[in-house]
Amino acid sequence: MARHTITLIPGDGVGPEVSDAARRAIDATGVDIEWEVHDAGLGVVERFGQPMPDHVLDSIRRNRVAIKGPLTTPVGKGIRSVNVALRRELDLYALVRPCKWYPGVRSRYSDIDLVIVRENTEDLYAGIEFAEGSDEALQLIESISALSGRDIRRDSGISIKPISVYGTQRVFHFAFRWARENGRSKVTAVHKANIMKHTDGLWLRVAESVAEEYPDIQFEDRIVDNMAMQLVQKPELYDVMVMPNLYGDILSDLGAGLVGGLGLAPGANTGDEIAVFEATHGSAPKYAGLNKTNPMAMMLSGVMMLRHIGEGEAADRLEGAIAGVIAEGRRVTYDMKPDRDDPTAVGTSEVADAVAERLTS
Ligand code: NAD
Repeated sequence: MARHTITLIPGDGVGPEVSDAARRAIDATGVDIEWEVHDAGLGVVERFGQPMPDHVLDSIRRNRVAIKGPLTTPVGKGIRSVNVALRRELDLYALVRPCKWYPGVRSRYSDIDLVIVRENTEDLYAGIEFAEGSDEALQLIESISALSGRDIRRDSGISIKPISVYGTQRVFHFAFRWARENGRSKVTAVHKANIMKHTDGLWLRVAESVAEEYPDIQFEDRIVDNMAMQLVQKPELYDVMVMPNLYGDILSDLGAGLVGGLGLAPGANTGDEIAVFEATHGSAPKYAGLNKTNPMAMMLSGVMMLRHIGEGEAADRLEGAIAGVIAEGRRVTYDMKPDRDDPTAVGTSEVADAVAERLTS
């Protein structure tokens, strides 16, 4: 069996706990993995001068596969998200977030198996922003007024929304290929083309033309507000949904809510060469160090990772073991119990024990 070398970034907050649990569960499949463990985030700034040091990026570039725990972004301190920077630096342009319901999960819905593909590098998250009152913002306001004949209030902050033909083409090609390779039958393009004609309008136009190259996959589009309602009313109608960055951020939390919450929502940041797997949830600082949060989102990210490296059989076994623990409903964390204060809820590491036991017994 081939040995895989994979970069592991434990993250901060609850990251180290859920990462350790995921690593133990992945190792219990018997797949031969050498883990290159590297810290990143605010905790390493003092040591390396930046939250995502070069040696960590080099490790990911070399191994082409990484799995990471969440990293905290402090609010309003002028520090940009390390997660966003990582995606940009490695050009991980497609974020795949499956929303799958497993029997035993308490949710208003059942039998959901959707996938959100979020464009990860453009849109309002491109990070091009101008502070209210700055020289740049005022210059821009004047230029826009001269170019468009429309006034923007002088006390406005400005965020720019770029959506390119190149960026849209590659994420739709990715999504159609992913649909094909994973036995999916339909791709839905999500947009607000009726209002933002030159960004979302471009997105839809490009999507329609890429779709023509994949006649075996059905294609349709939905306006994002309608999409939000449809996901709540009839999620069973949808399969693979492709959307720009901001809508993807919001609707993937909605999707996680449909299938039992953030504790069960995995993800893969993917580029042409490199993939970094991570849960949808953040560092949940209030639970850090308490051995309380659900590691299943991180474990399910591990399932995606195993499939990606060609270990499909081990991925199926790991997913089956997680599904078994969920269906049994006994050794699960507080968020999966009917009552959040249920004293029978177990901790993060006990979930890892339960999953690993199923894989090794
Ligand atoms: P969060 O996802 O960390 O937590 C919100 C709440 O969801 C928690 O308080 C908890 O009740 C619940 N929750 C989250 N993960 C859970 C789990 N595994 N099991 C059980 N319950 C869980 O979101 P937040 O509080 O908005 O963000 C905290 C920090 O994480 C911020 O700094 C944010 O920037 C960062 N963040 C990082 C990533 C990433 O690394 N990719 C993603 C999102 C947020």
